[in-house]
Order: sequence, then C-alpha cells, then structure tokens
Amino acid sequence: MTEPLDEAERERPRLGRAAPVRVRVPAKINLHLRVGDLRPDGFHELSTVYHAVSLYDEITARSGDTLTLTMEGEGAGHLPLDESNLAIRAARLLAEHTGRPPYARLHLRKNIPIAGGLAGGSADAAAALVACDALWNTGLTRDHLADIAAEIGSDVPFLVLGGTALGTGRGERVSPVLAPGHTWHWVLAFADDGLSTPEVYAEIDRRRANGIADAVAGEADMLLAALRQRDPEILAATLVNDLQAPALALRPELMRTLMAADDVDALAGVISGSGPTCVFLAADSRHAAAIAASLERSGVCRSTATVTGPVAGARVV
Ligand code: ATP
Repeated sequence: MTEPLDEAERERPRLGRAAPVRVRVPAKINLHLRVGDLRPDGFHELSTVYHAVSLYDEITARSGDTLTLTMEGEGAGHLPLDESNLAIRAARLLAEHTGRPPYARLHLRKNIPIAGGLAGGSADAAAALVACDALWNTGLTRDHLADIAAEIGSDVPFLVLGGTALGTGRGERVSPVLAPGHTWHWVLAFADDGLSTPEVYAEIDRRRANGIADAVAGEADMLLAALRQRDPEILAATLVNDLQAPALALRPELMRTLMAADDVDALAGVISGSGPTCVFLAADSRHAAAIAASLERSGVCRSTATVTGPVAGARVV
C-alpha cells in the first residue's frame, strides 16, 4: 500500500527536498550455525550460513528537520522509538560517518517478529542505512556501507547484502555463497513470546562450562554442497544450529513445535538463530502451504508464514 504524499512532499521539487525513499528488507534464517569460542570482546566466534527469506519489514525515509521514527505493525508499541531503536542508531551513525546532520523522518512498517531469531532489529538497521543513504545521496560505496553496518550489529552487513552468505568472525564478515539459482520453500512458525539472544548465548556458555555435550554443528561444507544440488531432501539432512539445544533448554515447549515436523510431513525442522521461531523445510510451495495449515491446526505455534529464499537484502523499492 502506498502512503499518500503529504502537502510538504507535493511541494518538494520547489523546495529542493529529496523525494521519499522506501526500502524493503528481509528476515534471515540460519541454515547452519556453529558457535565457537567466547572471545575476549564478549562475542562468540561464529561460522554460519545466512539465508534471506521473503518476510519483510519496510522503512520509508522522508526529509525532515530532526531525526524521528514512527512505527506500525508487529510489535508496534512494544519497541522504543528513541536512540535505542536500531533504525535510529543506523541513521545517526551514517550521518556521523558522512559528516552531515541526521535529519530524516523514518516510518517503519514491521512484519518481522521482535526477538524472534529472525534478526528483525538488524534488518531495520540495514533498511534505515540504505534508506538514509539514498535520501541523503551520500555517494558511499557498498563496502563503506557494510563497514558502518558491522558497527551496528553482527547480522546487519548480511541484511544489506541478502541472498545466501557465509558469515564468519562474530557473523559480520559475509561472503556470498555461489549457489545456482534455486528457490527454497520454508514455513516459519512464530511463538507467543520472544527469546533474548544474550540469554541463549549465556545458556550455551553455561552448558559448556558444565560439560553438557550438545551435538556441535560441523563444517558447512555438506550444507553448501546440498545447496548446489538443489535437492530439498539432501538440504534437510544438513540443517544444523548450535543454539537449538540452549534455546530448547530455556523454552522447553518449543520441542512440541519442532516435533510436529514429522506429523506435518515437513522435510526438516530447526530453530532459527537464537529462536524461538521454528523453520520447516518444504519440497515446493504447495507442500509449504500444507505444512503451514497443519501447524496452524495443531496449535503448536502462534501463527505461521510461508516464505521463500534466497531474496535480496535491503533495497529501495
Ligand atoms: P537476532 O536473530 O539478530 O539475535 P532477534 O530476531 O532474536 O535477533 P530482534 O528482533 O532483532 O531479535 O531484536 C532484539 C532486540 O533488539 C529487541 O528485544 C529490541 O529490544 C531491540 N531492538 C532495537 N531496535 C529494534 C527494532 N527496530 N526492531 C526489533 N528490535 C529492536
């Protein structure tokens, strides 16, 4: 839906103000997530395969005389609209890097659940960066934008890039996975409440300190080979997430959701990132619709969404 332009915007050409910029940004799931050692800076060394899926937040940036944020949709009213919002942080950081005042009116339309393991906050930061970059016509290179993205958060560079990509370091170093063009079909099962990412990482540390031996994800090679083969049955066998066991320890009822994978005939079920969203792999779009309908009937989740991947990262639309 396109929002009507207000009086000031209709006047814009005369006033010389930039036209509004609308940016769409996807959610991410992790097809492979291996959590390594805790580093001295408090982050864990990660090896992950990110995958951008077609569940989108949208940010519109308009010229303004201050920096403001309004919000509608999923979680509106539960998120601060001040400096602690990642969209505001992103706009401010971009302004600092380019030596200009951070003036913009941002409006965020949210579909990605908050604290869902889908990197919604990072997605909004990526969208705000790309939107303000276009609104202010900064002329920054994509690489410079990626550096600023990494300053905001580990997942933000991937959400600027999109597609399917390997993430290393704390997840901020991304390189595209060269897989042949193929669309994968997924069902997202949303939970009632979010899970705190820091708490899930603290739980993995606690389990390791106590010698609890969760199965640890190996190298991503098998998964990358499966992506190249374009065979969902093979891909299903290679999805892994080191954060799954700690997320289940904190939220045991998620086991019911994951166990439903067999009943609903999904090829695989895995927790997305730090959870609590569960991701089910389908063979095709009809299969995905059937899985979503079965999950909704079974009552093991709040709601579902059928999505495809890979999709582009934050883009002006
Ligand atoms: P990740 O998968 O990257 O760990 P997540 O999907 O579990 O993240 P997010 O939705 O990204 O979680 O939000 C994590 C926290 O970030 C929220 O609890 C919220 O306090 C904060 N936050 C700040 N700005 C935003 C935003 N625009 N949208 C969502 N959360 C935000």
